[in-house]
Amino acid sequence: MKIEEIIEIIKNKNPKVDLDFIKKAYDFAEKAHRGQKRKTGEDYIQHPLAVTYTLAKLGLGTKTLASALLHDVPEDTDYTLDQIKKEFGSEVAFIVGSLTKLRGIRLRGKEDEHYLENLRRMFLAMGADIRTVIIKLVDRYHNMLTLNPLPSEKQYQIAKETLEIYAPIANRLGIGEVKGALEDMAFRYVYPKTYKKVDEMTREKYKERAAFTDGVIRRIKKILKKEGIEVLDIHGRAKHLYRLYLKLKKHNMDIEEIYDLVAIRIVVPEVKDCYETLGIIHKYYKPLIKRIKDYISLPKPNGYRSLHTTVFTREEKPIEIQIRTPEMHEEDEYGVASHWLYSDEKSLVRLLPRRGKNKRRDLAKLKEELAWTKQLRSWQEKANSSSQEFFEDLKIDFLKDRIFAFTPKGDVIDLPEKATPVDFAYEVHTEVGNSAIGAKANNKKVPLDYLIKNGEVIEIITQKGKKTPNVDWLDFVKTSRAKMKIKDILRKQKRI
Ligand code: MN
Repeated sequence: MKIEEIIEIIKNKNPKVDLDFIKKAYDFAEKAHRGQKRKTGEDYIQHPLAVTYTLAKLGLGTKTLASALLHDVPEDTDYTLDQIKKEFGSEVAFIVGSLTKLRGIRLRGKEDEHYLENLRRMFLAMGADIRTVIIKLVDRYHNMLTLNPLPSEKQYQIAKETLEIYAPIANRLGIGEVKGALEDMAFRYVYPKTYKKVDEMTREKYKERAAFTDGVIRRIKKILKKEGIEVLDIHGRAKHLYRLYLKLKKHNMDIEEIYDLVAIRIVVPEVKDCYETLGIIHKYYKPLIKRIKDYISLPKPNGYRSLHTTVFTREEKPIEIQIRTPEMHEEDEYGVASHWLYSDEKSLVRLLPRRGKNKRRDLAKLKEELAWTKQLRSWQEKANSSSQEFFEDLKIDFLKDRIFAFTPKGDVIDLPEKATPVDFAYEVHTEVGNSAIGAKANNKKVPLDYLIKNGEVIEIITQKGKKTPNVDWLDFVKTSRAKMKIKDILRKQKRI
């Protein structure tokens, strides 16, 4: 691949990009990596080029693309981050610097403190600038694609990291499809034999299921039409292989037990339509009681919302049905971006490239442009969205409503904004919560109603034998877990 190809894509996808800046970054990286080869036998520069190519197709901006070209320079060449800062400014240096630090992440087992420290770095880098994480995920994706020539031990290690660190991060970002792609690629290297088995086992099944699913979709369409429900979309969706494997493991590898091999997705206009649709489906098809899940009232931790039900069809075969609104569908596909989109429309409108009178239409347009996360999942495919130049200087603080704090041992505790040491303590363990009498944030004493900041190491000071929470903690705790635990115990001890 040549830089000229990328330049062509940039011109098409994001005409606002400073091409001179990109060419300068390329020249710098090419010179720095000159003479280095990858295990595939290619010149090393092909790797940063491939990563940049993908990001260019996503329509990302000048600083992101330049950082991608330079991302392996400080670690692998004689050129330093200081030189990059001098040539390309502090923003690029910050992104490249974060990426260099992230390269330190190596999985050495759950007990490894170094690993936890690195995981912490990753979380912090994510909070600081989402562009770092996007580059990192694309970098990892390309490394997974070129994993074959590596010795099997290395393949295993990289794939295992992908499975245990990168895929969960994609999941945390709410980009379900990216998570799926990374997991499926890693699966064959981490569990080669099982992968083959699952792959063979499902190939036949999928064919069989596809025909069956089409029939069910046709019938459901008719039913919903008759009942007066407006259906925006209805389609079948195959389960990712690795997810399927995890499920099979729970069911003694019996594929007949898997009801959501192919699920049916129904998209309806409003939340009330979701429940109405669920009711109608249950009127015509008998549900499996235990498998009715209301993720609208109780969303998954990563924000996923939908109604799930598994019903018996006419053929007596069960099938999973997922019901959602277009907003929920977008959240599932676009992840982070859509969360931010719905939570902060004002700042969004400010960022619009053209400010027209029709806010709604502009928002719709912007949503379309924010389809970048959707495109992330089809990196290799032709992207078809228009310019996304507004992305250039955009920092999405996508962990806006969440903070990450750490135990002195380095475990990550995920908390809502404005959480306190008491929330933290109950996340760690109920006993730690009950026996808490004080706390330290980054080694400094803080009150129990202190508002924890992102990245702080929190130490809970406990009193041995103390088994009762304070009633007034209920005035400031943020997590439902802490609230519930405190009330539970006080009730048991008849204090409230
Ligand atoms: Mn790299």
